[in-house]
Amino acid sequence: MPEKIAVLPCDGAGKEVVPEAIKVLRAAGADFAFEEFDVNADAYLRTGHAITPEVWNDLQKADAILFGAVGDPRVNDAAYLAGVLLRLRFELDLYVNLRPAKLYDDRLSPIRREDRRQVDLLIVRENTEGIYVGLGGRFKKGTKDEVALQEDVNTHGGVTRIIEHAFAVAKREVVMVDKSNAMTHAGGLWQDRWKAVAAQHSNVKTRHLYVDAAAMQLVKDPTQFDVIVTGNLFGDILSDLTAELVGGMGVAPSANLNPATGRGLFEPVHGTAPDIAGQGIVNPTGAILSASMMVKHLGFPDMADAIEGAVESAIGARECTRDIGGNLSTSQAGDAVVKRLSD
Ligand code: ATP
Repeated sequence: MPEKIAVLPCDGAGKEVVPEAIKVLRAAGADFAFEEFDVNADAYLRTGHAITPEVWNDLQKADAILFGAVGDPRVNDAAYLAGVLLRLRFELDLYVNLRPAKLYDDRLSPIRREDRRQVDLLIVRENTEGIYVGLGGRFKKGTKDEVALQEDVNTHGGVTRIIEHAFAVAKREVVMVDKSNAMTHAGGLWQDRWKAVAAQHSNVKTRHLYVDAAAMQLVKDPTQFDVIVTGNLFGDILSDLTAELVGGMGVAPSANLNPATGRGLFEPVHGTAPDIAGQGIVNPTGAILSASMMVKHLGFPDMADAIEGAVESAIGARECTRDIGGNLSTSQAGDAVVKRLSD
């Protein structure tokens, strides 16, 4: 049976980059059944559902979800985002968010020193808790006395399982990032669980950094990092920073996983890129590398390596989009990767 892949390009740049990822998967020999679903701002405005109950039913049956990006100026960002991406992450309990940053070509790095450019790190971001659960409220809204509370939710189970996953994927070191000097309650739980889980992995090096120090160290010398494990908000912020270190938002992939159920949703780190969407110039690399993470997760590591190698070679030859120094369109950049897979 071929793997069943639910395809959700959604909006903006997502609609342009996901077809390129599928094109590359087919060229790499992925004998999958791709089924595209009508989940996007148009469907939301038409039906009132971010995801209709029928589509939700089908998504549950997929072996993996290949995702683009959500967002549209015509809809309320928070409610729509919550109804699509956050719902998928929360209800499928995709608690691990993997965000690798690997430098495929020297010229994409903003780091001057050559010895600081061997970037190949992984951010393991907690994906189902933190401030993203939407707990809180606004009191005396709209008045001068207004009070707004946004709760940062951290649970014993949630923190433990994400730290455990970081150790499961680390090669040389796990760095835990929090802000426990200021956020003493949440940080205290992270510290307790960190120490307990780390004690069971004495073969792996460990280090703790406050998030401000982590941001500074990532810019100073990103080569020092292997795996960084952190909460939902800090993971979101630091992974934009690491994306920029290896060529920008256009090249960064991500995986949302539940290692217990095997479920996974794979999406580029970038959003809908409204400033450049629809012009045929968005970079499909982040989506293609997300597809590579998907096939690795589905048990095809050789195919994943072949796709990654083809991407690296195309970037090296400057057969890529303009944001990373080429002059190809989105579709031509996808073709450049396909050509290397077929050679
Ligand atoms: P959203 O609200 O959907 O997250 P955004 O504009 O806030 O959209 P991103 O879509 O992540 O955030 O984009 C940030 C900027 O990075 C964009 O304005 C664009 O210039 C650049 N960018 C993002 N994705 C790509 C891409 N695939 N190729 C080239 N540039 C990109």
